[in-house]
Amino acid sequence: MSRPIRPGSALGLLGGGQLGRMFTLAARNLGFRVHALDPGHDCPAGQVADLEIRAAYNDVYAAQALARGVDVVTVEFENIPAETLEAVAQVCPMRPGAHVLHTAQHRLREKRFLAEYGFPVTPFREINTETDLREAVEALGLPAVLKTASFGYDGKGQQKLETSDQVPGAFAALAGQQGILEAWVPFELECSVVCARASTGETSVWDVAENAHRHHILDTTVFPARIPAGVAARAQAMAVAIAEALGVTGMLTVEFFLKAGGDLLVNELAPRPHNSGHATIDACVTSQFEQQVRAVCGLPLGATTLLEPAAMANLLGDLWPENGLPHWERLLAHRDVKLHLYGKSVARPGRKMGHLTALAASPEEALAKVLAAREALKE
Ligand code: AMP
Repeated sequence: MSRPIRPGSALGLLGGGQLGRMFTLAARNLGFRVHALDPGHDCPAGQVADLEIRAAYNDVYAAQALARGVDVVTVEFENIPAETLEAVAQVCPMRPGAHVLHTAQHRLREKRFLAEYGFPVTPFREINTETDLREAVEALGLPAVLKTASFGYDGKGQQKLETSDQVPGAFAALAGQQGILEAWVPFELECSVVCARASTGETSVWDVAENAHRHHILDTTVFPARIPAGVAARAQAMAVAIAEALGVTGMLTVEFFLKAGGDLLVNELAPRPHNSGHATIDACVTSQFEQQVRAVCGLPLGATTLLEPAAMANLLGDLWPENGLPHWERLLAHRDVKLHLYGKSVARPGRKMGHLTALAASPEEALAKVLAAREALKE
């Protein structure tokens, strides 16, 4: 087993968005340095990192230059080309490994991996031709969701099919990309579990998060989820078992659909911290970002204990007035709500600009606090 990477070392990060920023802040708290690679200028992680390398994700030379200056490289984004991950791995440990990202960056590979290991997934079919789609609609029934197999997140590249005359249009919208048709799941609620697996093999898991989406983008999370203890325990055990089957070193988030009878179906995997785990920063002994640092460094994992029930609300670019800034003072007057902003200078509808967290005696109260604070921005 390799030696632990100790505070004072430098960590490499592929991707410089908000997840990378919060990873970097956690790493700096533990006395690490962070070098971040991102294609954009003034990226959220770059603003707080020791070194920002501006390069495309397929620039293997830039990725190797990043790797030469650090002791381990991790990711905040799963859609990094395989060649880049392999190039990094020639220089220093890449955690999670290229095989994990290969599985998680493609919906068909991910679902086949899960089904092969016996984890419950939504019924699905591979779509390469219009005939495939027609046959899949017949086999799975309607409604169904057609998704692109690659590069899908936050509902991008998804179309809901209600009637079979939508088939030609939906297939055309794939624009030559491979697709996956999934049966529509009449779920009772959506929830997710964030867990960590260190390079030592040690694992840890947080409580289940209960998620509400708007326009396919996460809107609020309530932590812990308001579900029976037995269901929560099953979701947590399944997430850790998936992390072990996948051989993740680092973080894994498993998104679930919970059906009325208590059955859980895995919707999606993300081999990284996740928006639904943001409340762990303020509400838990160890945040998902600190745990990512510990896990990829082979250090003991921190306690995931929840200090108090919590809720998180996303702040999307839609809240920004056209020529100005939101009313921060009105929001900050909600004194027991924590504001996290990601340093993004341009707000666009649907763009994740920041989030709010509140703790309270009950999840409902915590949710009411973050929603009231967010409403205040609009007044
Ligand atoms: P995804 O990008 O696959 O996580 O999908 C984004 C959101 O779309 C999910 O969080 C669900 O709210 C919804 N969704 C996706 N797939 C399905 C499905 N098969 N059945 C019902 N809702 C779905």
